[in-house]
Amino acid sequence: MAGKLYIVATPIGNLEDITLRAIDVLQTVEVIACEDTRKTGFLLSRILPININTINTVNNSMKARLISYYEQNESQKMPEIINALKNGLNVALVSDAGTPTISDPGFKLVRECIKEGIKVESIPGPSAAISALVSSGLPTDKFFFVGYLPKKEGKRKKLLTDLSSIVQTIKLTLIIFESPYRLIKTLNNLMEIFGDINIVIARELTKVHEEIYREKISESLKHFSKTTPKGEFVILLNTNI
Ligand code: SAM
Repeated sequence: MAGKLYIVATPIGNLEDITLRAIDVLQTVEVIACEDTRKTGFLLSRILPININTINTVNNSMKARLISYYEQNESQKMPEIINALKNGLNVALVSDAGTPTISDPGFKLVRECIKEGIKVESIPGPSAAISALVSSGLPTDKFFFVGYLPKKEGKRKKLLTDLSSIVQTIKLTLIIFESPYRLIKTLNNLMEIFGDINIVIARELTKVHEEIYREKISESLKHFSKTTPKGEFVILLNTNI
């Protein structure tokens, strides 16, 4: 019988946010596919009572339990993971933080498993988009998660222009992932397209320096330009309140 693919959410900062089911699955699966074996190894060393990095015997060959599976090697590693599943091994997919497949690799693997008739089960838990949304104070009934904006300025502005009409007509909250390096640029683009509206910037959620900044874009620009922005950011806006 084929194994099962578990999509396991892990903390976005605070390790105590790991769920009991996530611990149970990570402890029992034969293979863990993860973006960065060192980062996942560290997480496992903190949450599991045993050393997960021990070598297992799989198909008479020595194989580590952790398989690195990241954006650039997805198609190369997929057959190995699918084979393991077909051979009856259970596989957990984790990303560096949060819910796998959400602006992280995994969707292609899930699609392949479905095609191959392999069961897929989600072990839900932290995700930065939802954590930011629920503490933003913005309407949560309808939201649009756009992930990262395109890196190229022209494409970014075109997408934001298209989104601005959706945000207004459907009256939804827009959720954007942003890196500290592009935060200021993106705030300037937002100002250009939406005007000086109120926005919410959720930074370093669940971590020591968590900050939920609710202000106009002009004030946000001043605030985050004081020093080089640091940490992980989610930007949220809703033009209808
Ligand atoms: N799959 C992950 C999830 O479900 O949260 C998201 C992975 S994506 C590669 C990383 C982006 O998520 C960051 O650039 C940032 O926009 C957002 N993010 C992740 N952790 C965060 C945190 N603790 N606080 C704020 N934003 C965070």
